[in-house]
Amino acid sequence: MLDLSQTVIRALRSVLPGGNIALHEPRFSGNEWNYVKECLDTGWVSSVGKFVDRFERDLAEYTGVNHAVATVNGTAALHICLKLAGVGRNDEVIVPTLTFVATANAVDYCGAIPHFVDSSKISLGVDPSKLQDYLGDILEVREDGSFNKLTGRRVKALVAMHTFGHPVDLDAIVEVCDRFGLALVEDAAESLGSFYKGRHTGNWGKLSSLSFNGNKVITTGGGGAILTNDADLAKLAKHLTTTAKIPHKWSFSHDMIGYNYRLPNINAAVGCAQLEQLPGFIENKRKLAGKYIGIFSAIDGVTLFEEPSYAESNYWLHSLILDKENMHKRDDLLEATNADGLMTRPSWTLMHRLDIYKSCPRMDDLSLAEDIERRLINIPSSSFLGADA
Ligand SMILES: *Cc1c(COP(=O)(O)O)cnc(C)c1O
Repeated sequence: MLDLSQTVIRALRSVLPGGNIALHEPRFSGNEWNYVKECLDTGWVSSVGKFVDRFERDLAEYTGVNHAVATVNGTAALHICLKLAGVGRNDEVIVPTLTFVATANAVDYCGAIPHFVDSSKISLGVDPSKLQDYLGDILEVREDGSFNKLTGRRVKALVAMHTFGHPVDLDAIVEVCDRFGLALVEDAAESLGSFYKGRHTGNWGKLSSLSFNGNKVITTGGGGAILTNDADLAKLAKHLTTTAKIPHKWSFSHDMIGYNYRLPNINAAVGCAQLEQLPGFIENKRKLAGKYIGIFSAIDGVTLFEEPSYAESNYWLHSLILDKENMHKRDDLLEATNADGLMTRPSWTLMHRLDIYKSCPRMDDLSLAEDIERRLINIPSSSFLGADA
């Protein structure tokens, strides 16, 4: 009888081609060369240019959010989202412990403190009912805000992250935020092309952030964006990310301490070309999910993680969850698949375990995230792997 690792490798190979397969690779099969050439030919390579404007317009149109402001990466976008949501020095911000480190880092950049909470097994993102009970216990809601009874600090915002592209239950999360007076920010770095009840993620937060890093659904090499439906916040986001310069023909004057977080025109050119291909990428990623679901439903010991019933996910990274009885085989499975040329990865080390964040406030019970940390592996997810041969 084959052991679990051999069974999984055989299953993956029945869906994937031979040879080395990366976890997530970009594809540049559209207008990338043309648009980048146009930048070089015209000399518009840097921080302003028509592709930046077009990329922002195209992003707003695709996501259905009124305004998009392009930034140099997703972490910078999230930093500005939090600042504009009112997060300041010594505030606490609720963050899932199951996330990429950038989510917590952006909170720290504001001089604020991340406060870690558990995930839901339906979305892998923040669990709204567990959160509601928890906040009811620890918060004192006053006229001037909500305060952590234990630390005395103001709890200002919640960052909801759509893990591997699967949307959190946004209606329920919004309700919890409203009840406790928290500003909602969506870290939608992984969820471009993911919809919650028919509407694109990034529409619920006061502000939301996207990432176009090389491993994301579309890439600009490096890049990000701030999304918001509020015109004033959009204007401020543009201002803050472009050194807060007061527009003038020659004079350099600045009315805030701004950031040089703008996306260069060359990167935006790649982004415009990538965005044209996004619907095709998502279609292929969802096809690949269908193939994986089919093949793994017949295999004992592992399950492919499926999108929540309320959502249509981009399936940014496909995930296998080991059954509880097979949990101890995770490292063998990682060894065997990678040795076979199939790139697989565990999920992130939980934030509350990192030395840099281990003294931050947190839920005592982070058991779902801890369980996922031990049982989940990401498997090859590039969109072209789902294309019909
Ligand atoms: C990719 C990512 C970011 C932002 O990453 P950048 O590399 O700065 O663009 C932020 N949060 C999450 C959850 C991510 O996956």
